[in-house]
Amino acid sequence: MPKIQSAAPVYTLAPPQAALAHHLALLRLALHFGVELGVVLLLVLLLESGLVQRLARRVESRRPWAQTALFAAALLLLLDCCVLLPADALLQHALLRVGISIQSWPGWLRDQSIATLLLLVVGVPILVFARWLLARSPRRAWLWFWLASIPVILAAALVLPQIVEPLFDHFSPLAATHPELVAQFERVVARTGTQIPPERMFLMQASVKGNGLNAYVSGIGPTKRIVVWDTTANRMPQDEILFILAHESGHYVLHHLAWGIALGIAGTLALLWLTMRLAASLLRWRGRRWRIESLASLPGMVVVLLALVLLEIVSEPIGNSISRAIEHQADVYGQEAIHGIVADPQQTAVAAFQHLGQAWLEDPHPSAFVVFWTYDHPAIQSRAEFAAHYNPWSIPSTASGHPRYFPPDQK
Ligand SMILES: [Zn+2]
Repeated sequence: MPKIQSAAPVYTLAPPQAALAHHLALLRLALHFGVELGVVLLLVLLLESGLVQRLARRVESRRPWAQTALFAAALLLLLDCCVLLPADALLQHALLRVGISIQSWPGWLRDQSIATLLLLVVGVPILVFARWLLARSPRRAWLWFWLASIPVILAAALVLPQIVEPLFDHFSPLAATHPELVAQFERVVARTGTQIPPERMFLMQASVKGNGLNAYVSGIGPTKRIVVWDTTANRMPQDEILFILAHESGHYVLHHLAWGIALGIAGTLALLWLTMRLAASLLRWRGRRWRIESLASLPGMVVVLLALVLLEIVSEPIGNSISRAIEHQADVYGQEAIHGIVADPQQTAVAAFQHLGQAWLEDPHPSAFVVFWTYDHPAIQSRAEFAAHYNPWSIPSTASGHPRYFPPDQK
């Protein structure tokens, strides 16, 4: 049925909530750039003060791999304790005040400890391997490192969600507590052609930590599964959960994960090549002052890390722009996929964005620059506005045109 499109509601917050959301957005922004600046400053300080040299001398009596492992562990712990942890603590403090988080500080500390352990378990072997390559092949190390990273990235996409997620949260079969949701999910799953049986639909106990809403699909191939936060299953209307699920299915059907992995692998190649060039330039510029002759030395690793961090910071908008485009596609797909399953896909999508925005206190008016630089999803306001105006089934000749992903005659 045709709709009066201009009358469609979009994302709004009551004035007190809007003010809170604005302050929270400012804090998130300050922390975002503060962490980036903090990491850069700390690395520069370590190099300029000669602390890296002293740290390197402390471990030099050991075997090369043990030297690198100890040095890398110390470096990662320093970054974690001086920059990442304080920033997370500030955010947790703010989220507790506005009620998005209800997690106790001991519980928060437990999660942070697991995250720090993971950082060491993953980061130390990577740095040991990188230094070994740099020592063996200074000119081509970036290329060998990139080749070795490909199977690691693929394996991580396959198994990481199933290994890492249970370390932080509790999962149980969705059918045990929400059989009606499973039955509805199966309708969406059948429509989108994603093969996820009920045994791979899970409920995550998010309510012990906070009031945020979420549902997602993770893993690839045989490890693919649907996860719904209990906050979502218990508080959000069923139609809206189906929309979120349909959005997530869109990522699979439109091969976003495969594209993401391919772009990630290609981006890593460019990033590693540029990192080595920038690190070499930094060494030529400040090497004598820092008393560093080679990038393969322990202090040289800090120069490589500094170059990598600088490049990741300036390339951030590229990854985020691609991510926003992909997320928009999934929004369109999600809205089309629930057509015929829910009564009004447009209103369902708009209401879902409203609920998600309220739950996370999303800023209704983020600046264009902030969205461009830091948002990996389109702003919730623009997502809601798009949903309110997107109705390709109304009349075939409207500006919206035909559905993009489902044939016009399909219900
Ligand atoms: Zn998405």
